[in-house]
Amino acid sequence: MIYKKSLHIFGVTGSIGQSAADVIAAHPGQFSVHTVTAHKNAAALAESAKRLNAKRAVITDESFYDELKRALSGSGIECAAGQGALVEAATQPADLSLMAIVGFAGLRPLWAALEHSRIVAIANKEPLVAAGPLVMARAAAFGTQILPVDSEHNAIFQLLDPAQQRAVKRIVLTASGGPFREWSLEQMRTATPAQALKHPTWVMGPKISIDSATMMNKALEVIEAHVLYALPPAQIEVLIHPQSLVHGMVEYDDGSVLCQMGASDMRTPIAYALGWPERIASPGQKLDFSALSKLEFLKPDLNCFPALSLAYRALEQGLSACVALNAANEIMVDEFLQNRCGFLDIAEKSARIIEECPAVSLSTLDDVEALDGEVRARLKHDIIKYNTQKAGQI
Ligand code: NDP
Ligand code: MG
Repeated sequence: MIYKKSLHIFGVTGSIGQSAADVIAAHPGQFSVHTVTAHKNAAALAESAKRLNAKRAVITDESFYDELKRALSGSGIECAAGQGALVEAATQPADLSLMAIVGFAGLRPLWAALEHSRIVAIANKEPLVAAGPLVMARAAAFGTQILPVDSEHNAIFQLLDPAQQRAVKRIVLTASGGPFREWSLEQMRTATPAQALKHPTWVMGPKISIDSATMMNKALEVIEAHVLYALPPAQIEVLIHPQSLVHGMVEYDDGSVLCQMGASDMRTPIAYALGWPERIASPGQKLDFSALSKLEFLKPDLNCFPALSLAYRALEQGLSACVALNAANEIMVDEFLQNRCGFLDIAEKSARIIEECPAVSLSTLDDVEALDGEVRARLKHDIIKYNTQKAGQI
């Protein structure tokens, strides 16, 4: 009998989760899916659980539990609900856990998976930004292999030869530049959520799409790269590459630059992570060199995209500032998506929050969660105060 890799997929109903489901479905008999999770989308969770022949489906928002049970009745697939069930799922041993939840909400299941899964494939970058040193220390303590799924970090993983790490001059993370690459600050001031959600090269969930429009996504990725590859921020560079075909580069001291290319399709890095250390076929799009007319690389405009510099500022300040940056951004993206603030407010407010954030010692997960909660509460309080004042002026 062929050995099947056992998997959990956290966030199966999202853009990454569905791409992972495509890769798994393309390899029948190679994977055995244990648990799949979602937050509110019971119908899509049930459908994915059936498609992947999963043993258990977990929905974190308990108000959708009945809907999930109904959708899975007679299927033989177990159901569970709530935050506790999510974390408990991550304590079930597996060969690989794919972390594809969006935001800081993925931290607790990641923490548990680091102890109980042999390999943890991480797409969910926010926990790495907010708790990077703790996450890496935990992976080392349990001998767990972390595999980056984020396309740029997956590229660097493929290119970095650990034996030559000391000869790395710099790494380059590419960025498409997002939908507002050629917009002025004045134009961006009145940008709508619909405009910001229209990414030119990638199809992704709403939060990362807005992060790409502000370029906060690249800021989070600079911190993510610093955490994953232990490189000083000065050796992590960002270049705008509108075609999104070169995902990352590593320049060595001898002048050699290695780069990884592929179509703008997350099924490639996901297949890499699911198959590792083997390579398996991806059902995604493939790169057609004969159809390429040009590959451009440009310096980012930090004046128009101030969010990008926040990564370097936060790294200089320390972990508290990284926690604050991530929390502030999550709150502001949500405000923007609900039409409750302007597009430029996202970076402006995030900058102010890290400026005001005191450096506190964060040695445990509870410390990180406490600071994250404080930042969110303070920012929400400021927003309510501001809106009340504004309403009073009308
Ligand atoms: P989506 O918004 O498409 O999906 C998010 C998933 O997480 C869904 O399954 C959702 O469930 C679940 N979820 C949402 N909130 C919670 C919560 N509070 N608790 C538990 N589960 C929750 O996101 P993406 O797939 O686009 O992104 C996932 C992560 O991967 C992000 O961190 C992103 O930055 C990263 N990433 C994404 C890329 C992409 O191409 N999409 C590329 C590189 C990295 P439900 O459907 O029920 O709401
Ligand atoms: Mg990326």
